[in-house]
Amino acid sequence: MKQYLDIKQDYSDAFLLFRMGDFYELFYEDAVKAAQILELTLTSRNKNSENPIPMAGVPHHSVQQYIDTLIDLGYKVAIAEQMEDPKQAVGVVKRDVVQVITPGTAVDALNTDKANNFLVAIDQNQTGYALSYLDLATGEFFVTSLPDFETVVDEIASLKAREVVVGYDLADSQRQVLEIQLNVLVSSEQTGFDNAELVSDTLAVLEIAVASKLLNYVMTTQKRQLSHLQAVQHYEIKDFLLMDAASKRSLDLLYNARTGKKFGSLYWLLDETKTAMGTRMLRMWIDRPLVSATAIHKRQAISRVFLDHFFERSDLTETLKGVYDIERLASRVSFGKANPKDLLQLAQTLSNVPAIKTVLTQMASAELETLISQLDHMPDLLELITSAIDEHASASITDGNIIKNGFNQTLDDYRVIMRDGTSWIAELEGKERLNSGINNLKIDYNKKDGYFFHVTNANLTQVPSHFYRKATLKNSERYGTEELARLESQMLDARENSASLEYDLFLKVRDQTAAFILRIQKLAKVIAEIDVLQSLAVVAENNHYIQPIIAKNGQTINILNGRHAVVEKVMGAQEYVPNSIVFDQDTMIQLITGPNMSGKSTYMRELALTVVMAQMGSYIPADQVDLPIFDAIFTRIGAADDLISGQSTFMVEMMEANHAIRRATQNSLILFDELGRGTATYDGIALAQSIVEYIHERVGAKTLFATHYHELTALETSLANLRNVHVATLEKDGEVTFLHKIESGPADKSYGIHVAKIAGLPADLLDRAKTILSELETDMPNQPLVQQAIEPEQLALFQETDELAAVIKQIDVMNLTPMEAMNQLYELKKMV
Ligand code: ADP
Ligand code: MG
Repeated sequence: MKQYLDIKQDYSDAFLLFRMGDFYELFYEDAVKAAQILELTLTSRNKNSENPIPMAGVPHHSVQQYIDTLIDLGYKVAIAEQMEDPKQAVGVVKRDVVQVITPGTAVDALNTDKANNFLVAIDQNQTGYALSYLDLATGEFFVTSLPDFETVVDEIASLKAREVVVGYDLADSQRQVLEIQLNVLVSSEQTGFDNAELVSDTLAVLEIAVASKLLNYVMTTQKRQLSHLQAVQHYEIKDFLLMDAASKRSLDLLYNARTGKKFGSLYWLLDETKTAMGTRMLRMWIDRPLVSATAIHKRQAISRVFLDHFFERSDLTETLKGVYDIERLASRVSFGKANPKDLLQLAQTLSNVPAIKTVLTQMASAELETLISQLDHMPDLLELITSAIDEHASASITDGNIIKNGFNQTLDDYRVIMRDGTSWIAELEGKERLNSGINNLKIDYNKKDGYFFHVTNANLTQVPSHFYRKATLKNSERYGTEELARLESQMLDARENSASLEYDLFLKVRDQTAAFILRIQKLAKVIAEIDVLQSLAVVAENNHYIQPIIAKNGQTINILNGRHAVVEKVMGAQEYVPNSIVFDQDTMIQLITGPNMSGKSTYMRELALTVVMAQMGSYIPADQVDLPIFDAIFTRIGAADDLISGQSTFMVEMMEANHAIRRATQNSLILFDELGRGTATYDGIALAQSIVEYIHERVGAKTLFATHYHELTALETSLANLRNVHVATLEKDGEVTFLHKIESGPADKSYGIHVAKIAGLPADLLDRAKTILSELETDMPNQPLVQQAIEPEQLALFQETDELAAVIKQIDVMNLTPMEAMNQLYELKKMV
């Protein structure tokens, strides 16, 4: 327990799994908490003492599943192993922590999906912030500088990090944002390594510092080989289309915001990738569309080649199916975790590379040359693995049957002996039987005596002179011979030695493989890129998408018969009503009016999604698309209250609006959907109008502004670059049909009662609503902007309480006696 407490002292923030024989034990607080979380039996050590120590344990062979559960819940787990053979230990067996597993460094989980698990570090000085992140499973390692904490939060959210290492004194407010809003584990920095190799001319001082802190944290927790970590790569967020976390969520890019699932997201729509590396890269591309026209054109051109070569492309897809997650395999090699099966998968992947090369070459296109030249099939490594590892090898590295015949002479000799040993024994048995004339002479084996000749008492006189006695039994004697002893020792040696020789040979092969890690990682990236581009081609073909024309300094938007790609996919292309989106030179803002449920939000999202798809290099569902390059997308699209951080819808709405108008440039896209809905009508209209005006006068971003405030449509006369559009409705015999078709000009009605009818409200109620509506419309004829709107609910309330109000107004409180006051109160109560 002293040893335990000594170790625990250094790992107070983690569950300490303390190896004792076949179990990992937890003590004290750890045991109590873990017993609850993992449903373990809570026992105690020194049961009969005054203060028994709470204790819980898990068997060592199933420890991973328990670790996974703890990590999933955001805890850290420190593993203390026995560092010496207990049989040889003098005193207490030496124990030490060999690894600390944390949410951001977990790579050995049983159910790893294909997604990245990024560990982030942040640091700060007077110039701003720096952020670094890496994926321990793939070795990718990045760093960037960021202007403020807000961008830091967006970056962490978009990386979906579960753990952040903080290299400075974190203010409570910032800690709250990280822990509560982003739900990440905040870890403190570790020191101990000077990462001198990080120093470089291209990185800022703070970037070097933050990357170094990240490395330090990984090295202190992992305590193992990290040779697969790639050189840190600098990036700038302005090299990508900027989208804050809320925008990415509301556009359902990587998952559907409503369900949290892949289904119904852009990722779901575009994912025809065949490899794990491709899947990860596709997610990256969706998350970070480009802003360089040249880079976008390059992706388009390659997709075009894939589109134009149907047969070669299907061959390509087939060969990609034989590609394993070699990026992760490389890290397993580095960690010393790779098993024979892993190496076979690596070899199988390498053996597919020439076929990929061939099929790309067959497409005979200059666009593919760079990719082809980067496909490094590493013949040396392939030769090494195929010559060394048996194709039937299992995942175990201690059970033998790993190494192929012919790879190592000594091993081959052992195997000959093991295989032939039994027949040699049989031969010897026959020979000696003949020699001695003992008809029932036979060779037996047992653990104690090894191999021996079995001679029954009746035949003892015939035993040859070169037999020596090994043991005497009741009815028989056991003999050995020199020859038998030699065979026996050869066979035993062979069995023992071959297992350990195979183990050694395998480790050697694995070490030799480790020298290829960098090349494997590069190959993984090339294959990933090919995979994503073929995926985009497949999606484009299946859904009849077209190639967008992206103009570097373009100013206009022209989408002819565009569709919202995901909605169309879900509802079917026949059902979907295409909409054109046109912004000419003089259009900056489109003000969209129309009934609820008519398609305003879908129209807005169609544009945002089209921009994302176009700038990531994808094709587009439309008849024709001309787009400028956007630098950022800001959205405020009505979503549920941000309950987790405890902010009201309206507050969130205003914060997002603020974010957008402060950061957007003339090259940005803003989507504001029903802004101001969360407050009283006058407030809402006033704010909505001033925001539209502000964007028009000061920001200049292309903006879609959907609103249910009819009054705003009058802005078209005062704002030169604002255009009204509305969603068309068809009204026939009192029945209203929403056509989902966007047309120019303002909408004339809001059809709320129609929507209520679709929702199934009682007929009486709907009739009453119609009556109230017509009263309101006659009472309040169209008035100039703003003054016209009155909350209908409030009006209804007033009518019913008018009388009461009149009576209350007449009461002269100052001149009432207490008794009169009582009576008044009684009267009022009666009235109510
Ligand atoms: P609004 O924002 O005007 O309330 P939405 O954009 O949310 O309306 O659309 C409401 C519903 O109408 C959507 O869920 C979808 O089913 C349907 N819809 C919207 N646009 C289209 C379209 N272009 N074609 C077919 N159905 C559409
Ligand atoms: Mg809407």
